[in-house]
Amino acid sequence: MRLSRYFLPVLKETPSEAQIASHRLMLRAGMIKQASAGIYSWLPLGYRVLRRIEQIVHEEQQKAGHIPMLMPTLQSADLWRESGRYDAYGPEMLRVRDRQDRDLLYGPTNEEMITDIFRSHVSSYRELPMTLYHIQWKFRDEVRPRFGVMRGREFLMKDGYNFDLTYEDAMHAYNRHLVSYLRTYERMGLQAIPMRAESGPIGGDDTHEFLVLAETGESEVFYDSEITELTFGERKIDYESREECQAVLEEFTSRYARTDDTHVDTEFEEQVPEERRRRARGIEVGQIFYFGTKYSEPMGATVVDDQGNHVPVHMGSHGIGVSRLLGAIIEANHDDNGIIWPEGVTPFHVGIVNLKQGDEAADLACEQLYNAVVEAGLEPLYDDRSERAGAKFATMDLIGLPWRITVGPRGLKNGVVELTSRRTGESEELTPDQAVTKVA
Ligand code: ATP
Ligand code: MG
Ligand code: MG
Ligand code: MG
Repeated sequence: MRLSRYFLPVLKETPSEAQIASHRLMLRAGMIKQASAGIYSWLPLGYRVLRRIEQIVHEEQQKAGHIPMLMPTLQSADLWRESGRYDAYGPEMLRVRDRQDRDLLYGPTNEEMITDIFRSHVSSYRELPMTLYHIQWKFRDEVRPRFGVMRGREFLMKDGYNFDLTYEDAMHAYNRHLVSYLRTYERMGLQAIPMRAESGPIGGDDTHEFLVLAETGESEVFYDSEITELTFGERKIDYESREECQAVLEEFTSRYARTDDTHVDTEFEEQVPEERRRRARGIEVGQIFYFGTKYSEPMGATVVDDQGNHVPVHMGSHGIGVSRLLGAIIEANHDDNGIIWPEGVTPFHVGIVNLKQGDEAADLACEQLYNAVVEAGLEPLYDDRSERAGAKFATMDLIGLPWRITVGPRGLKNGVVELTSRRTGESEELTPDQAVTKVA
């Protein structure tokens, strides 16, 4: 992409409405524009990152054997009347009426709709286990939408639903989700810690929230500092193996780590030596639930088991805050000059800065570099505008691409360009070929 042809409306001023770094930086870097309270347009740069995050979520869900699909944003109120949640949900639900006077709602979540799909088509235990998921916009009329995409009213969520014959099968699905979530967040350069949480209005016994530690997080958390040393890393996992998935759950959840609604001081003190006790704030980027037959029973989602009995299926639901993740990633990866994208989600891999646009040698070298980067399978953003070097550097720092290659007539005389790491700030002089090899 050439910057002269792109749409990157960066702001010079710091927007006064933004209270936290990620919100400020997303506005300044021209990633989003507020449409109304808690509702955003995703401008090209923001949209690129959103799509990359979605892609990682898709890949990791499908590795775990979960099946993608897509349900609509608008749902019929009748389904929610069946589960009893139409009245129970309260003012967070956006309700609308169509011209036939039918009650609809903009889905805040999809347990009812997926249960309806399941009961319409699945009748035998032989079709289980089954986990379906989608990535779709949700609407919750939050009392205090704030912090940009972090607490929006319209937001993008991955929500998955498992259908199983027994409690044990459903717990295997729960554990699969835990493992796949660990991998998902790590690929985005994030540490998200599973913490025991309260199940709230969805109900159920087992639930963990995934929290990214950050001072600006809205949740208060308590944990054993040892937990921050755990990483899933490159290890292989057989998702079919109950033992393997269970072992990961035990490894990542045996130490004390809880949100404030499940935290108990005395237990914290008993279980964790003082020097390892941490009290901090975190951003909830996902949650997994097991809730058994809470929806399958009232909605009649049953299967025939091997004895010929009709039994309600055991279910769980599992969410990832896809759009919130942009905020969380930026909270964890920025400095005074701007964003520092982890490689896994960066909108472009490398920025090319031409120090002297219009200089024949510099222009030619930039074109060649551009093509070489593309050939290496990466996406470059080439600043080909006739701006001062300082302004070009400031834009690159703000939008936070992991690498910048600076090309100028002086270096070219010696056959070199400058490669700079956004994260460390370190620069080195390399030939253009060496620079491309290093970023690839
Ligand atoms: P919160 O406690 O922050 O209100 P929640 O517990 O109500 O979130 P869930 O129902 O667990 O949310 O939804 C799954 C995920 O969707 C959350 O873990 C979070 O990452 C994301 N999410 C929830 N509400 C919002 C929102 N208003 N804006 C952006 N993302 C959200
Ligand atoms: Mg909420
Ligand atoms: Mg919550
Ligand atoms: Mg939650």
